[in-house]
Amino acid sequence: MAESRKTTVIGFLNPNGQINVRPLGIPGTDHGQSLYQMACSHCGANYGANGSDIHHRRCPACQGGNPSTGGWSLDGGR
Ligand SMILES: [Zn+2]
Repeated sequence: MAESRKTTVIGFLNPNGQINVRPLGIPGTDHGQSLYQMACSHCGANYGANGSDIHHRRCPACQGGNPSTGGWSLDGGR
């Protein structure tokens, strides 16, 4: 599918029900990437993801996705 929607726009919802909450303003783990806060619309989990992963990210809590990228956590702040 030729999806041209911007995955880095706040509020973007990917096919797995994962929502882009906000840019975290910290470097990601891929070259040239930065981290975004993602929220799961199924269980409400919040976690970090590289911008390039937003479109296919799965929830680490209820979809067996990778752990929060960069070790970011809502409680840990930053
Ligand atoms: Zn979830």
